[in-house]
Amino acid sequence: MTRVLVLNSGSSSVKYRLFDGSATVAKGLVERIGEAGGEVADHRAALQGIMAEVDLSGLAAVGHRVVHGGTEFTSPTVIDDDVVARVEALVPLAPLHNPAALTGIEVARKLLPDVPQVAVFDTAFHATIPPEGVTWAISRELAERWQIRRYGFHGTSHAYVSRRTAEVLGRDPGQTNVITLHLGNGASACAVEGGRSVATSMGMSPLPGLVMGTRSGDIDPTVIFHLHRVAGLPIDEIENSLTRHSGLQGMAGVNDLRLLLEKRAAGDPDAKLAFDVYCRRIREYVGSYLAVLGRVDAITFTAGVGEHSAVVRAAALSGLEPLGIAVDPSRNERHDEVVSPPGARIPVCVIPTDEELEIADQSRTALSLPR
Ligand code: AMP
Repeated sequence: MTRVLVLNSGSSSVKYRLFDGSATVAKGLVERIGEAGGEVADHRAALQGIMAEVDLSGLAAVGHRVVHGGTEFTSPTVIDDDVVARVEALVPLAPLHNPAALTGIEVARKLLPDVPQVAVFDTAFHATIPPEGVTWAISRELAERWQIRRYGFHGTSHAYVSRRTAEVLGRDPGQTNVITLHLGNGASACAVEGGRSVATSMGMSPLPGLVMGTRSGDIDPTVIFHLHRVAGLPIDEIENSLTRHSGLQGMAGVNDLRLLLEKRAAGDPDAKLAFDVYCRRIREYVGSYLAVLGRVDAITFTAGVGEHSAVVRAAALSGLEPLGIAVDPSRNERHDEVVSPPGARIPVCVIPTDEELEIADQSRTALSLPR
């Protein structure tokens, strides 16, 4: 069995998980890096702390989660100086996300110089979306010059759960069409045709699409012009508002869906509306992807909300019975792997995601290592 360390470096945190084969032998989270009163001063200290705590002897690879791979990284990539330079060149496309991964990569390469390192990109799974699914109807010249197009994110999660869905249903993943709904703090939908992504709801950044904990999801871009021109807000403030103070947080004052459900149960009208907006947006994307795929073999819920909230699953799919889509109340309450009624035309599944395991597996594949 080969041991792989998976690192997910954020701007002020490092999440790690050490695998031996598919078993987790250690995991943890270093938070508030660099903050006053935080655990450690910087990413280097964070990784040194992890290395002091976890036995990394016999490590075969380090797999790094990298959010944005642009158009050039369409598969897991063994890291060398050239790859680092190319990921650096993508920072303008992902200023809120890629710098942290680069810091993690730089520190890990210095501290573990003899261990091969692999970059696994959130965007890579969506490289198979056809041009008409990634192109926006804006000036071609502007789009090409500034790399403006849909890239999509959460790729490791959509890849993992769509494959697992086929396995759970006893089907060949290469012959199975799945609509995957990753509903965590970030949220996105994906249409998967025979194991390949053909549509997804996030765009150039993880901002558009479904309603999220603190991100707005889809809005009319005119909102930004209006807030700038009429309300006089600086562009950075608008970005901050749409990414950190919108979504459930913006509508109802809480970003955690459990708290939203509590407020809704207590009769809070903002929480009720936020829940309805959240669920309706999911239903709109399900309808859209039914049309993109034509034949759908399963709809799969995953991530924090998707795996644990029966009420969201039921509300998001309500009214779709004429399309052969429904949830069985008791299966749904139990969070069974299949929550649709027996014999349903389109099975509805609940599949726990495991992005770190997928990153470990993809890292091994990139290095031709056995599991
Ligand atoms: P993730 O980003 O996948 O960790 O998901 C985080 C989201 O999952 C948060 O909004 C949580 O409120 C939500 N979540 C976690 N557990 C539950 C639960 N039991 N019921 C409803 N939502 C949950």
